[in-house]
Amino acid sequence: MESPELPPVLRGGQPQGPRGQRSLDPHLDRYAERTAGMTASEIRALFSVASRPEVVSLAGGMPNLAALPLESLAAEVARLVATEGQTALQYGSAHGVPELREQIVEVMALEGISAHPDDVVVTVGSQMALDTVARIFCDPGDVIIAEAPSYVGALGSFAAYQAEVVHVSMDDEGLVPDDLRQALEAAERAGKRVKFLYTIPNFHNPAGVTLAVRRRAEVLEICARHGVLVIEDNPYGLLGFDNQIYPALRADDPDNVIYLGSFSKIFASGLRVGWALAPHAVREKLVLASESATLCPPTFNQLLVSRYLSTHDWKGQIKSYREVYRERRDAMLGALEQHMPAGCQWTRPDGGFYVWLTAPEGVDTKAMLPRAITKRVAYVSGTAFHANGFGSRQMRLSFCYPTPDRIREGVRRLGGVLQDELEL
Ligand code: PMP
Repeated sequence: MESPELPPVLRGGQPQGPRGQRSLDPHLDRYAERTAGMTASEIRALFSVASRPEVVSLAGGMPNLAALPLESLAAEVARLVATEGQTALQYGSAHGVPELREQIVEVMALEGISAHPDDVVVTVGSQMALDTVARIFCDPGDVIIAEAPSYVGALGSFAAYQAEVVHVSMDDEGLVPDDLRQALEAAERAGKRVKFLYTIPNFHNPAGVTLAVRRRAEVLEICARHGVLVIEDNPYGLLGFDNQIYPALRADDPDNVIYLGSFSKIFASGLRVGWALAPHAVREKLVLASESATLCPPTFNQLLVSRYLSTHDWKGQIKSYREVYRERRDAMLGALEQHMPAGCQWTRPDGGFYVWLTAPEGVDTKAMLPRAITKRVAYVSGTAFHANGFGSRQMRLSFCYPTPDRIREGVRRLGGVLQDELEL
């Protein structure tokens, strides 16, 4: 079978972008300094090859929407246009549709959060909330503490505001509090301004681990003592495979935590509806910043999410998502046991979309990727999830999108690629 052709960023070829580098772009000298941090994400580059039918993609984090009740949603869309078209198709406030903000408060109550709807700011996906938070807090050179590894989209936003990311380690119980303490002390000694801890406590992307409940108070206490905000990014929190829901950090420290949520993984990612729950004063700044970026989040999509929450069994829908993803997680873990060469290690997520695999010494997952794609399997190299080039022995494997059979086939191919690599 013909091998898929790789985009330049994966071939390590044509440099693209930052000022001073060789490039064919005639506008290179015009860009603002901050664009130097904007480099093509490995994931986006992978997308074109990984989405070919012959390639099993364990790369993308696309939710599986096959279980959505599309017909009744279509009826809801038609009703919305017919009965409220003039509002739904009009501009709205940057703060978000009031009835949706009330419903978001109810969604967050499942995680023990008690909040006022006025403190919720609706955003264009939680990605925009992340970007806005970085925009309102970070000057160039400010430090953000983030887990190693961390969400690639967050690292992209932080780089765009020229923040310096300092990574702290994780183990099977999530972020290691002692490491956090040491990182904060080191930054203070170096005279740096640490703005916030960015953390994904539940079913981590990409690490697949969850912050142990007994560590949560300690993490909050360390951040509060050092005067550092906590950004709690929680798009997967309701996707625990045993129906378990962990208590939000925000529930324990409303004044020092900004909580980010999303309908992307529990309803529909294409609607781009997420939110931030922020302490009162911060909320004002968030609204102003998002107003200048987008004027308002899409009214139609917000109203559709709101109708969905009030007329559909959304909790039942989440249960069916959990079942779909649990079956896929099981397929992946079973296949890893069967096909991975000795010396590989991986996490065993109890929710979410991702497994984090560490290959034996000597393997470079980024260098190996073109060979994996030639063998028709794709993953994301661990380096994409680090701001410091680390992660070259790691990879993220997503089990959310391919069917269980495709997952097994993909892992089988990957096992062969790794085996070849070790024999090189
Ligand atoms: N945070 C994390 C940890 C994610 O995994 C994602 C999506 N992959 C996002 C934020 C952004 O989600 P969205 O913008 O679709 O709400």
